[in-house]
Order: sequence, then C-alpha cells, then structure tokens
Amino acid sequence: MGSLWLDTRSHPAPRAISAPAATEVLIIGAGLTGLVCGLECARAGIVVTLIDRHGVAGLTTGKTTAKATCLQGDRISRITRTHGADAAREYVATNQSALEWLRQFCASAGVATQERSAYSIAQDEATLPALHREAEAARAAGLDVGWGRGAPLDYLPFPIAGFVGLERQAQCDPVELSVALAEAIIELGGTILEGITARGATMSGATTVHTSQGDIATDRVVLATGTPILDRGGFFATLEPQRSYLAAYPLAPDALRPEGMYVSIDPPENAPSRSVRSTPDHLLVGGNGHVTGRASDTRERERDLRDWTARYFPGLAPSHQWSAQDYRSIDGLPLVGRLLAGSTGVLMASGYAKWGMTNGIAAGRILAARITGSDAPGMELFDSQRALITRRLPSFLSLNAHVGTALAAGLPRLAQPRREPPAEGEGYVHWHRWRPVATSTVDGATCTVSAICPHLKGLLAWNRAERTWDCPLHGSRFEPDGSLIEGPATRGLGPCRTLEWKGSRS
Ligand SMILES: Cc1cc2nc3c(=O)[nH]c(=O)nc-3n(C[C@H](O)[C@H](O)[C@H](O)COP(=O)(O)OP(=O)(O)OC[C@H]3O[C@@H](n4cnc5c(N)ncnc54)[C@H](O)[C@@H]3O)c2cc1C
Repeated sequence: MGSLWLDTRSHPAPRAISAPAATEVLIIGAGLTGLVCGLECARAGIVVTLIDRHGVAGLTTGKTTAKATCLQGDRISRITRTHGADAAREYVATNQSALEWLRQFCASAGVATQERSAYSIAQDEATLPALHREAEAARAAGLDVGWGRGAPLDYLPFPIAGFVGLERQAQCDPVELSVALAEAIIELGGTILEGITARGATMSGATTVHTSQGDIATDRVVLATGTPILDRGGFFATLEPQRSYLAAYPLAPDALRPEGMYVSIDPPENAPSRSVRSTPDHLLVGGNGHVTGRASDTRERERDLRDWTARYFPGLAPSHQWSAQDYRSIDGLPLVGRLLAGSTGVLMASGYAKWGMTNGIAAGRILAARITGSDAPGMELFDSQRALITRRLPSFLSLNAHVGTALAAGLPRLAQPRREPPAEGEGYVHWHRWRPVATSTVDGATCTVSAICPHLKGLLAWNRAERTWDCPLHGSRFEPDGSLIEGPATRGLGPCRTLEWKGSRS
C-alpha cells in the first residue's frame, strides 16, 4: 500500500533515454522544487537537464498531503517569534505569490485544483493560547484569518477545541501537477532522465557531475534533492529530517466528508498531530510524525493513525498507507541559494518543514532567478548563506546534541548477542567479525549489510513500518538489501550477504 498519488497516476512522466554529455544547467531532483526551477529556466531559454533517481515526483512530492496554503499550522507565530514581524509578512507574501504561480500554472496546463479553506486546529483546550497567537500573527502578517472556539462549520466527527481558518486556499494531485510540469519543461526543449543517481561532482573550473550513467558537464548544478547531497556546505548539520504517516480511505460519492484542509498544532503532550482533508473520492488522514530513525516503533504510529480514523470515521477501510519525510531548518525558514559562500556554481534548496507545496515553488523560482540574474519573492529571506549557524547557535547546538545522543543510543543495541536471523519483518544490528552489521528478514529473504550509514557513520535503526534501515543522524534511508532510498547519502550499504547462523555466535 504505497502513496495514493503514485499508485493512481494516469499517465507516466515523459522522459529521455540517454544522458547528454553536457548541459547549461543540471538539476538533480525532479520533485516540485526541481521541476519549478527547470520550467522557469526553460522559459528563460536555458538548456536544462533534470535527473532523478526515483523519477518525476518519485519521493516526497509524490507522497505529500498537497495542501497548498499560506496558513501552515503555527508557522507564522513561530517565524514572528524568531525572525520578527517583517520577516513573517515577507514569508506570507512569498507563499501567496507561490500559490498564485501554482494556480496560474494549473489553469494553463489543465491540472485540476480544488479551492478549500485551510484550518489550523487545537484538539486540546490547552493548545488554545497557541492557536490564538497564530491568529494574531497571521493577521499581522497580512492574512485575513478567522478564529473561533469549537469546530468550524464543516463535517468534523472528531473533537476540536478551536480553529484559525483561511479561505480560498488550494489542493491538488501532486503527481498530476508534477507530470504536467515535466511535460512543459520538455516542450520547451528540456531533458528529464529518470533512474539516474548523482554520486559526486568535480568542481575545478567547469563542473562535472558523476552519475550512475556517466559524467555530465555543466555550467550550473542545482541540488533539488530534498536535503542537499554533495554537501560541502555542511547543511546536513542545520536540517532535521522529519517523517510522517498518511493513509487514504475511499469515499462513496455521496459520503459526508470534511471539506476543509485541517492540521493540528497541539504539542505532543496535549494531543498527537493530525492532518485531515478529502479529495473528490478519498479521505486523507496523516500525522504521528517523528525525527527519522528515532522512533521506537514506527508500526505502532501507523496503527494508531488507523485506530483513530476507525474511531471517528467508522466503516472506512484504507486503500493506501505510506509515509514520507521532509526537512526542517534550525531557524525555521527554508534555505535556498548557494551551497558554498564563495561560489555560484552549485545551488541548493531545503528546509520547508512539510510546507513545500508553496515553499518548494518559491524555492524553484528563486533558484531560477539566481541562474538568470533576476529577482524572485523571498530571495533574501530564504538565502541559504544568511548568518545561520552563528545567529542560531543554541538551536544548532540543540539539534546536534540530539544527533550525538542518537549516535550514543545506538551502541547498546550492538551489545545484544544475536544467534538467530530476525523473524519476518524484523531487523537488528549486531557484531559480525568485529564489524557492526544490519540483518533483516523481509519476504522470507534474510539479508546482512553494513550497519553504518555511508554519510556520516551513524548506526542504522530498523523501521518496522516500512521495513527499511534509517539513519538517526541525518535521515538517510536504505532498503533491506542496502540500496539507497533517500537522504544526504549518495551510495548504498554495500552488497547483501547471507550469514551462516546455525551454531555461530554473531
Ligand atoms: C507526510 C508529508 C506531508 C506533507 N504535506 C504537505 C502539505 O500538505 N502541504 C505542503 O505545502 N507541503 C507538504 N509536505 C511537504 C512537501 O511535500 C515537500 O516539502 C515537497 O514535496 C518537497 O519537494 P522537493 O522537490 O524539495 O523534494 P522531493 O520531492 O523529495 O524531490 C527530491 C528529488 O531528488 C531526488 N534525488 C535525491 N537524491 C538524488 C541523487 N543523488 N541523484 C538523483 N536524484 C536524487 C529524489 O529521487 C527526489 O525525487 C508534506 C511532506 C510530508 C513528508
């Protein structure tokens, strides 16, 4: 049961067969950020090539809830608190401009969107003060929000203590949107290559990107990879990978459904996070997020989401269940611009904190503007080279203290002796010939790979819900056979080996 959008895509994304030897701009990543950047570059007459390991919208963009809104949980009050009221106003204006860009593109390309009200909600009375602060900050930042106790006028069978609402926001099918963007790029002469992994780059004079299908020479590289790979700027240390769970429930045409797009802002001690909206034929329920690789039992989080839905929307059965990850920056704003302070050759974008439907569009436009030498909304506010680490030292230290704790927390797991292969669907790390290895059993196949993340040597943790090896340090993830799924790592865990268990002490 994977993503609803990827499973029901109506036609495949267009693709080229072979990589060009050279291109003016090489965009690594064909999610929303890379596609918008690619289209804006192609519109400016630039020869652009996009490569993607998972294909168009194959990762987070194909697994999002796809609420395109300027009201984003409690983000505006947080940004006001950290960066001031002017920054919050500019953040809102940047997102409004991105939403308008989305509307115009969808209208011209025939991509269906539905206009919806967006709501930030408190499930628990104790969250009402925070909700009130969000309403005030949103108004001060220029949004015409309403606020009230109890539930708004809508079909909402679950308890709500209060809401902030914003009318005329949007939702769409993110894969349909991405395929249309890819088609528009190709129509303008761009190239899109799926199933290619970028592994490294040589940057002496001209840049050469080394990929799984050969080298590509380019004037400019854009890392639209979720979190930046080829990370010589050290951005991984300022980004936190956050996973979240989603399920889709088919709805009969005449079934009652929530018409708004809801996201809770309760801290975990008040209530678990929830995101609820409906498409014309499905109810979408999400939540129970956590830092990648640091949840004790991911299957329990999935089950909790299903139980909650069964309680408040009885009689529905999930057709799709999946999870995905996005990245939060230490100062709460997206990071878009140069990878290295002294060079314009490599650009990057990240840090949307699960609000990339508008921020990803804003980032794509900023990246293209940096390439064409023009301007775009949010360019300065989101600048990746803002005095991030020095000004946000406490957050930086806190994020990396958690990384250090995660590193140390893995070691006791290694100390447990393992004499039997794991049961079906399970995995554990253990010593084998003086090396830490990770063994899992999935679909009857037991496979042992290195237990050390090739990015920065984190000890991997088994994700029971998804049957993957996840790194608790910076969010790289791997299949049971060691192949790379996502994150800042650029290679897998080495070959899958079969150990001799019988009578051996591992
Ligand atoms: C559960 C969940 C729900 C969300 N809901 C919402 C929502 O309701 N509203 C909202 O605004 N935002 C939402 N978001 C956030 C939004 O989906 C993301 O911010 C956005 O999709 C990110 O787009 P992207 O292009 O930056 O990344 P991605 O879509 O992840 O694209 C990055 C691409 O880079 C490719 N790549 C990576 N490394 C390499 C490599 N080495 N070589 C080649 N290719 C590579 C990947 O295959 C991938 O396709 C949600 C996120 C999550 C996780």
